[in-house]
Parts: sequence; C-alpha cells; structure tokens
Amino acid sequence: MTKVRHVLGISGGKDSAALALYMNDKYPGMDIEYYTCDTGKELDETYELIDKLNKKLSRNIVQLKAADTSFAPFDYYLNLYRGFLPSSNSRWCTKKLKLEPFEQFVGDDPVISYVGIRGDEDRDGYISKKSNIQSIFPFRKNIWSEDVIVKFFSNIDTIAEYYHSLPKNEASERFGNLLFEPISYSFSRDSKLNLLLDADIKTFNKLVFAYIKTTDYPLAKVDNFPLVDNDEVLVRDDIFNILRESGVGVPAYYEKIDFKINGEVGQYARSRSGCYFCFFQQKIEWIWLYEQHPERFKEAMEYEKEGYSWNQKETLAELTQPDRIKQIKEEYLKRTNRNKQKNTSQYLVDILDDAETEGCAACFI
Ligand code: SF4
Repeated sequence: MTKVRHVLGISGGKDSAALALYMNDKYPGMDIEYYTCDTGKELDETYELIDKLNKKLSRNIVQLKAADTSFAPFDYYLNLYRGFLPSSNSRWCTKKLKLEPFEQFVGDDPVISYVGIRGDEDRDGYISKKSNIQSIFPFRKNIWSEDVIVKFFSNIDTIAEYYHSLPKNEASERFGNLLFEPISYSFSRDSKLNLLLDADIKTFNKLVFAYIKTTDYPLAKVDNFPLVDNDEVLVRDDIFNILRESGVGVPAYYEKIDFKINGEVGQYARSRSGCYFCFFQQKIEWIWLYEQHPERFKEAMEYEKEGYSWNQKETLAELTQPDRIKQIKEEYLKRTNRNKQKNTSQYLVDILDDAETEGCAACFI
C-alpha cells in the first residue's frame, strides 16, 4: 500500500503548538512529521515556543526554508518584490514564505495535514488545492474538511450498505433517520451535519471514512484511522491548559498588560503569532508593539518607505503621534468595556473583536 505521510504545521501560534502536543501524546503510534516555515520576523517569544516544543515532541520539528539565503526569508522576497509591502489584498508573504515551502516539502506524496482550528472557531483554515493533501481538524466536532462533507452528503447511497451493516441501537435509529433525510430548503446541509454529529460523532466519522475509502483522497490509502474514534472537542481554555500542563507554557505576548488612559486602566496584549509587523494586527496591537517592543516597532517603521506602509491610511509614524495613541486607546477601551459585558472570558483575545478569525490561517493557528 502507498505510504501516506502525516504532517502538522507549527505556525508559532498557541493552537498549532497545542495540537502538536495533543497528537504527540494521544497518538504516539502515528508517524507525524512536524514542520515550521520561518519568516525570520517573528517575535522572540515565538522562537522560544518552537524551541520548547522541539524538546518536548517525540521527533524534531523540520525547519522549512522559503529561500536558500543568508537574509531573513521575508527580506529576501521583499527585495525580489522591490520593496512592495504585502497587504491583506496582496499577500505574497503567505504564498512565498508559508504555502510554497509546504507544498514543496510534501511534493506529490499523499499527505494528511493536521490543522489546529479549535472547536469554538468558525473558520476552515488553510486548505491546499492540491489533491494529494487532505486536511483534518482534530480539535473540532467535525474533523473533516468542507469538500469532504459536500461529497459525502452527495453520495449517501454509497455508504447505505455499510451503514446497515453496523450494529443497531436506539441512537443509531435516530442517526439513520437523519442520515437518509434529504437536504432541502428547510433542512440545510449544516443542520444535518450538526444533528448527525450531536447524535453520534463516532458513527458519523466511521461513515465518512467508509465513504473516503471509495475516493482518491489520501485517507483512502490508509487501513485504520484512529481519529475516527475521537469525539473530543477542544476550545480555547483547553488549548491554554495543554500548553501550561505540558511545561511548554503560553507565549508571553498573550499575557495582558495594564495601560492607563484618562485615569482609567485598560489592558492590552497581542492576539496572535506571526510577523511582528503583520498588517493583520489591530491598531491597539501596533501600540502594544510600540510600547512593549520598541526595537521591533522601529524595525517595522524602517520598512515603510517609497510610499509603502503597513496600514492603508496612515504610516506608523502617524499612528504613534501622542494624540493618535490616546485616541486608539480610548476607542479600544470603549470597545473592550462594551464587549466585557457580553463576554466573561479571562482571555483578552476573546474580547478583541474578530482578532483571530480575521487574517491568515497559515500564520495564526
Ligand atoms: S504573519 Fe502576516 S506578514 Fe507574516 S507572513 Fe503571515 S500574513 Fe504575512
């Protein structure tokens, strides 16, 4: 049988780090290749996290290099792009520094790629368009990617015989009724998926795996897939617990720091990993960088030249004028106070609107 590779990308963020620890602990028999693609522009805390993980995991993390050069990979490509800074509309950085090295690493081998999107998130993460790469989301209730689910529901008849061969109990009768109820205007695919998963995650997974065996997906080449029997759903608190209990710890930039504005005390932090100058960060995160890592902020400023800036409407020099800092902090404080009333989480990242959902799934998991 063709060898299928199992790979897990470590972005430097908390969720992919926790996923690596989780898979390493829970499935020691699986031969998982851990890899990371360094841009050369992460905060020191991210490099420390990867170092600690490397010591903890049963095999070394492979360091993928986007370019064979003595420059930081980001600077190498920036030079090729003639100083044109990446932006949310032109994300050459993700393509060149993360996706292309990954696709080169796996080549044409059939690959299962494990992605650390959590059970409390509503995003799909980076899904490769290459047919030899299949993504699996172990922290979610639904571990399968969207494309697999669409095909599965369009081919229910394929697994009917397999379903009828499973031992029956009361739950599976309800499960069967749901499974064969056609999707319609009043019964959407998402509703059907959620009801089936709520009825019996393991049976659902067994059926999807049975269906996959009839396709060309990489998992079709695997005899057994232990995640089929995993019905755990992990949310943000679980991620922080895994990191703390493993001894790897939570990167310091997630820790809240007090600031004062107009006599009121607010708290700020960074919400994610990634390059310290990432254009996806919020204005308050830029202020955090300016005040907590002034040397990195200065470096970020040095990239802004010849009309290019990290933010669309203002340069970093403008953003750090005293009046502007005051305005950003005031607006942020108002927003967090409003959100705190709706949200009792201890983590600031919960209070920062859309802090994690917006942005780059290849960099911030
Ligand atoms: S973290 Fe931001 S700047 Fe860095 S590669 Fe990812 S998207 Fe680009």
